[in-house]
Amino acid sequence: MSAFTDQVAKGLACLRWLPAYAGQQLVRRGFRKAGPQHLIVALADHFEPSIVPGVSGRHADLDEQERRLERWCREYPKMADAHRDGDGFPFRHTYFYPAEQFHKTLIDRLAEHCHDGWGEVEIHLHHGVDAPDTSEATRRVLVEFRDELASRGCLPRWNGQGSPRYAFVHGNWALANSAGGRYCGVDDEMAILAETGCYADLTLPAPLGLPQVGKINSLYECGLPLDQRAPHRRGRRLAVGRSARTFPLIVQGPLVVNALRRVGGRLRPGIEQGVLVTHDAPTPARLGLWQQAGISVAGRPEWAFIKLSCHGMDPRDEPVMLGAPIRHFLRTLLDAARDGGDRVHFVTAREMVNIALAACDGRDGDPGAYREYRLRLPGRGGEGAC
Ligand SMILES: [Zn+2]
Repeated sequence: MSAFTDQVAKGLACLRWLPAYAGQQLVRRGFRKAGPQHLIVALADHFEPSIVPGVSGRHADLDEQERRLERWCREYPKMADAHRDGDGFPFRHTYFYPAEQFHKTLIDRLAEHCHDGWGEVEIHLHHGVDAPDTSEATRRVLVEFRDELASRGCLPRWNGQGSPRYAFVHGNWALANSAGGRYCGVDDEMAILAETGCYADLTLPAPLGLPQVGKINSLYECGLPLDQRAPHRRGRRLAVGRSARTFPLIVQGPLVVNALRRVGGRLRPGIEQGVLVTHDAPTPARLGLWQQAGISVAGRPEWAFIKLSCHGMDPRDEPVMLGAPIRHFLRTLLDAARDGGDRVHFVTAREMVNIALAACDGRDGDPGAYREYRLRLPGRGGEGAC
């Protein structure tokens, strides 16, 4: 392939989602704001204490990582405690921690923070960076890290029983080798995730400019064999009346085209992807776009699923993680929802998936009652389960 046609092919791969988007906007517009909504909000934090801003491939030393984490665990509750949803839960991060960077003291501290009620830990993985990874090595690192988390009481089990289950975010957005072989190399990765207990993937959407699968703004089951490369290219949307069977479920965040938006003080045409960063802090206008994505279980549009993402340990983003922008947003969100008759539910990835599973099984009413529906942490009851 010539350099030019290669460029064109790559460009088209990044825009595979456009036809689906156009169709969704036509269909879902009719459902929006039919009545009060339950806003089910989760934040998938690619939580990397080792991050060196602007430099990939380098890691901060362990002392620095411990200092960052300690500061986070001290400061986060001060910010979050004041902003609680109608069920009494604070805004919590789901900490997708890099499995390949396991370090005992860091995970012990993060587990303690989570046991105190400030979030939950799940699995993130960067691999295949210098050379394609193998199935065996991928399976090994996932299982070892899964078992470290499970031994600290951090992972749920189905109905509270059996082997540990986990949620996943792929490093560099290359889920199941979907980035043309870069940052993965493992075609049967989705099968490995399924086999090792992954209940949901929260990697998507990919940032602009990276290959994007054609399915967007959806909660769905993979539609292609899991041992094939990128089996999430096709899928079946979760729906009321049809229990989910193929795991991991794909839980996507919003991807919405918006004409003009103020980013870093300037109006720019853009694409909203639910990413929280300092130069693009959360605002009520962005919340409107997240709702516009219409991510729900088919047949239950009044339960709006809003999965956001961030890199919480990036020092450049500390203001939006802990400072005035997030405090202001959370206060505005809770006030606006109350005034408009909507209800906000701050959830973890696990709770979000439990609520989606309850919707599939035909449960209705208050989604907050289904946070522990199927995937339960040790010592948790099964409210809403039957
Ligand atoms: Zn990462």
